[in-house]
Amino acid sequence: MEVIVDPQAGFCWGVVRTVQIAEQSLQEGTPVYVLGAIIHNPREIERLERLGLRTITHEQLPEAAREGARVLIRAHGEPPSTYRQAWQLGIELIDATCPIVAKLQERVRKFYLQGYQIVIFGKPQHPEIVGVRGVCNDDCIIVQSVDEALTRVDFRRPTVLFSQTTMDKTAFAELVEALRQHVEHLRVEFPEELVGEFHAKDTICGQVSGREHHLRRFAAACDVVIFVAGRASSNGKVLCEVCRSVNPRTYFIESAEELCAEWFEGASRVGVTGATSTPQWYMHEVARQIRQRFGGA
Ligand code: SF4
Repeated sequence: MEVIVDPQAGFCWGVVRTVQIAEQSLQEGTPVYVLGAIIHNPREIERLERLGLRTITHEQLPEAAREGARVLIRAHGEPPSTYRQAWQLGIELIDATCPIVAKLQERVRKFYLQGYQIVIFGKPQHPEIVGVRGVCNDDCIIVQSVDEALTRVDFRRPTVLFSQTTMDKTAFAELVEALRQHVEHLRVEFPEELVGEFHAKDTICGQVSGREHHLRRFAAACDVVIFVAGRASSNGKVLCEVCRSVNPRTYFIESAEELCAEWFEGASRVGVTGATSTPQWYMHEVARQIRQRFGGA
């Protein structure tokens, strides 16, 4: 049984940047705390915690202030209220918001100030959306389906439609089509800055959507696909489904302990891949364990 690690899987550049900022900051002496899990991947969190990073909640910000820690804002970004609270507490922030998310926030703010009805295709409680909601005073409609949009959107108002950066492109296209039929003044944000390697014409990050094409080919060329990601990773769920759509023998795992012998029965080629928050080093560890425990090469 041949076991291969997808050479194109691994961190997106936004996550690489955030992790690098964290590592550099940790070398500078003062304690560094991060607001919320730095990445949806428990293994990488453990590695950074061994270097001294501490994960805290918003409620623990006063504690961070008392301990003189600097606080890192992760790639998902934060709402303006967090910046205000840190300023009031005298906390130095290390802002590692992904530039693509920062751009999304900036555009939502711009259209909000112009009086548009803001509609966002996304998950209301996802940290990226919590940040985006903050920049328009929560005066926006977050939808996860066409039905929800058709019930909640006021068709008479000038409307602008955005997407969380990690949503499914096909579902977003369906939403655009449905709203176009009802909303007279609909603007769908096609910002050049957010265009990814596969020319995603929406605010879905090209780092996610650009991988879909490659993943389909990778998954189709394997008998079994092991998809490694944190269970909280949005793009992990999307990209795993992309693999499953072409290869039903796709299995989602967070940790190598979840691997099962029966998955590999009769397989001659096993592919290991993952989300934009899955480190390459962990996918190689999963591949090593498959070889060792189930007889691969
Ligand atoms: S998936 Fe895209 S938007 Fe999200 S952190 Fe990575 S580069 Fe930034």
